Amino acid sequence: MKPVHRKPCVIANWKMHGSRQMLEIWLKQYVSGLPEENPVEVVLCPPAVYLSEARLYLNQLAKKGRIQLGAQNSYAEMTGAFTGEISPSMIREMGCHYVLAGHSERRQIFSEDDTLIARKVWAAYHADLTPIICVGETTEERNQGKTLEVICRQLAAVLPEEQLRLDPRVMVAYEPVWAIGTGLTATPLQAEEVHVAIREWLAARNRKVANEARLLYGGSVKPGNVKALLMQPNIDGVLVGSASLNAQEFLSICMACRQ
Ligand code: PEP
Repeated sequence: MKPVHRKPCVIANWKMHGSRQMLEIWLKQYVSGLPEENPVEVVLCPPAVYLSEARLYLNQLAKKGRIQLGAQNSYAEMTGAFTGEISPSMIREMGCHYVLAGHSERRQIFSEDDTLIARKVWAAYHADLTPIICVGETTEERNQGKTLEVICRQLAAVLPEEQLRLDPRVMVAYEPVWAIGTGLTATPLQAEEVHVAIREWLAARNRKVANEARLLYGGSVKPGNVKALLMQPNIDGVLVGSASLNAQEFLSICMACRQ
């Protein structure tokens, strides 16, 4: 049995998919399919241009507490001459409580390195957002037996020690790069092994934070594999990419996460 304070959490990452029409239909289907009591925290991360519209729909649907909003990215500064970027305080102003940080697509396609990710994480905390810190190894790193070493190195590089002393809002998503968008999923035991290592890494710095931190798994999560993942003692939720684009499929994942 998991501690009750680690409420299961399901994140929908739409990446650069969707449209205004899809947003409206998705939210209606999602909200109408939810039961009255929803013990799972659900966070929708649509493209940033749809955040304020999503907020308006959720207000109209009058069940806004049932789904939170998050952003897929935010910059490392609050304001300034950074053409094309969006600051964490702007995202917070849109009603978001979460932002993804260090997603492997940002690392690989947009060349974000640990230094930039660390600054983004720090800025997100300062804007009262919870960054969902993504870590994960490549196929080569796994084959070389370096998975845990890579994960701990990524954590040390982006999660400030000061933050770990002060604030228990830590959320980490273990997302093996080889499992994202590939249809391959880590087995529940492979994922649990890494989640244990992440919790031990946190516990070595702050036991309370380690106990309260929610650790998510991401990588080709589907309605058919989510339950076995969530049964692992250290997996507190999932980060869902492609399967979150279909409201019914996403709802099935959320329902499977009810303990
Ligand atoms: C993701 O975008 O973080 C992700 C896990 O994608 P997918 O579910 O499509 O593998």
